[in-house]
Amino acid sequence: MRSDIHVCSDPEAAHDRPVYTLGDRCPECGAPAENGAPAPFDPTDRYGEYRRRARSDRPD
Ligand SMILES: [Zn+2]
Repeated sequence: MRSDIHVCSDPEAAHDRPVYTLGDRCPECGAPAENGAPAPFDPTDRYGEYRRRARSDRPD
């Protein structure tokens, strides 16, 4: 059984985190949404580490 959860296919749109939806389009930017189940996060998000480092005020 496939998940009905979709995720915004445009990670460089207005969001700094994945936007999930049950529909076919991102509710925030209107970009096509795709099945987000196979990839819990975007492995090509080379800025993820940078963002996490920038938040060094958090213990984790
Ligand atoms: Zn979006």
